[in-house]
Amino acid sequence: MESETLSTQNDSAQASSLDVQQTTCCIVGSGPAGAFLALLLARKGVPVILLEAHTDFDREFRADSIHPAIMENLERLGLADDVLQLRHTKMLGISFISKDGTFTISDFTQLKTRYPYMLMVPQPRFLAFLTDRAKQDPNFRLVMGARAERLIEENGVVRGVVYRGQDGFHEVRAQLVVGADGRFSRTRQLAGLEPEKLSPPMDILWFYLPHYQDDPDAAGALHLGPGRFAILFDHFESWQVGYAIQPGTYQQVRDAGLVPLRRALAELVPWLANRVDTLRDWNEQISLLSVQTSRLKQWYRPGVLLIGDAAHTMNPVGGFGNNLAIQDAIVAANLLTGPLLAGTLQEKDLAAVQHQRELPTKVLQFFQITVQKQIRKHGLDAEKPFRVPLFFRIVRSIPGMRNRQAALTAFGIRPAKVDP
Ligand SMILES: Cc1cc2nc3c(=O)[nH]c(=O)nc-3n(C[C@H](O)[C@H](O)[C@H](O)COP(=O)(O)OP(=O)(O)OC[C@H]3O[C@@H](n4cnc5c(N)ncnc54)[C@H](O)[C@@H]3O)c2cc1C
Repeated sequence: MESETLSTQNDSAQASSLDVQQTTCCIVGSGPAGAFLALLLARKGVPVILLEAHTDFDREFRADSIHPAIMENLERLGLADDVLQLRHTKMLGISFISKDGTFTISDFTQLKTRYPYMLMVPQPRFLAFLTDRAKQDPNFRLVMGARAERLIEENGVVRGVVYRGQDGFHEVRAQLVVGADGRFSRTRQLAGLEPEKLSPPMDILWFYLPHYQDDPDAAGALHLGPGRFAILFDHFESWQVGYAIQPGTYQQVRDAGLVPLRRALAELVPWLANRVDTLRDWNEQISLLSVQTSRLKQWYRPGVLLIGDAAHTMNPVGGFGNNLAIQDAIVAANLLTGPLLAGTLQEKDLAAVQHQRELPTKVLQFFQITVQKQIRKHGLDAEKPFRVPLFFRIVRSIPGMRNRQAALTAFGIRPAKVDP
C-alpha cells in the first residue's frame, strides 16, 4: 500500500518544529459529512478539531438539498425548526423537463413524514449553520483555511494530521482521523486507498445567471435536450446553473465560444433567454467539473476512516450525495462515540461503519448509474429530442413503485437515525 505519511522517525526534525494540538477526533473537510459528524461528536462530549481547506464556505459546486431523512434527524437534534428559518425553497419532487413537458420521477408529497420535500438551502449557509451550532460546544474547534497535507503514522497506525494553515504548518494528534474531504480526497490518497471507478465521467459547466422577481419555481429540475441537460439551484439573487455536455466535448464546446452556449441554454430553458447574454467571459464565469461515480473497497485503515464522497464519490444525478454523506456521519457518530470516549477505538469499530453504510451506498450508486445511462442514451448521447425513457415511465405508472422510488431518494435504504 503506497502511502505518503509523515513518519515521526524519518521526519522528526520537521515534526518537532510544528506546534502540536491534541484532540480525540480530527476531521478533514467541512462539507456536509464533516460538519455534521463534528456537530454530533462534539455534542456527545468527544473533543473534535475540524479542518477546512477553504477560508469560507462560499464556493461553487455545492449541492443545496437537505433530504427528508436529514430533516428528521435535525428534528431529533432539536434543530429542524431553526433550519427552516434559513432562507429556503422546497422541492416537492424530482422532475425532468423536456419538449414533452414535465415528468416527475420522485413525488415527495405522498411520503409519510413531517418533511415531505427536499429543503433547498444554499449549502454555504447550511454549513455555516452546522458549524455555528457546533461552536456552542467547548469540545469543538473549527480551523478554516487549514489544508491537510500529511498523515502522521506510528507503527502502521494513523495518529494525526499535518495541515498547512494561513500561518504555516501545524500538527493535530488524534485517536482518529476522519477523511470527509470530498471527491478529490487528499486523506484517501495519503492513506493509500484507491477508489474503484464505477461509471464514465460526466462533464458539467457551472456558472451563475441573474435571478428575476417573476422567475418560475424551478430549483432542482433537470432540463433535458438532445446532447445536453441543465440543472438549476435557486440562490435567491442568482441561479446556480449546472450545464452537462457530452463527455469529451469540452474543448470543442469551449472553442465554439459563448454564442452557441448561450443559444443552446436558451433553447433548453426558454425563460433564461433574457439573461444568457450576461455570460461574457468564459475564464471568469464558467468552470468545468468532471464527476465520476466511484467507491472504495475498504473505507478505513488503523486510525483513519473515510466517509461521504471521500469513500464513495457521487455525481449529481438523483441528488443522493448529501443524503448519503450525512447518513455516513450519523452512523460514524453512533458507532464511534463510545470507543472514542473510552479510548478503546479499534479497526473493527471502523469496519462496522463501513459495514452499515456499504449496502445503502451500493444501492443508490447502482440506481444513479442506471439513471445516468438512461440520460446518456436518451439525452446526452442522442441526436433527437429527449424522450422520457421506458424505465421511468414504468416506474411512474405503478403507484407502489412510484412511492418506493420517492422514498429511496428521500431516505435511502436503512436510513440512519441519530442516537438519542
Ligand atoms: C456538480 C455536482 C452537483 C451535485 N448536486 C447534488 C445535489 O443537488 N444534491 C445532492 O445531494 N448531491 C449532489 N451532488 C453530490 C454532493 O455534492 C456530494 O455527494 C456531497 O457534497 C458530499 O459531501 P462531503 O461532505 O462528503 O464532501 P464535500 O461536500 O465535497 O466536502 C468536502 C470538504 O472538504 C474540504 N477539503 C478538501 N480537501 C481538503 C484538505 N486537504 N484539507 C481540508 N479540507 C479539505 C473541501 O473544501 C470541502 O469543504 C452533486 C455533486 C456534484 C459534483
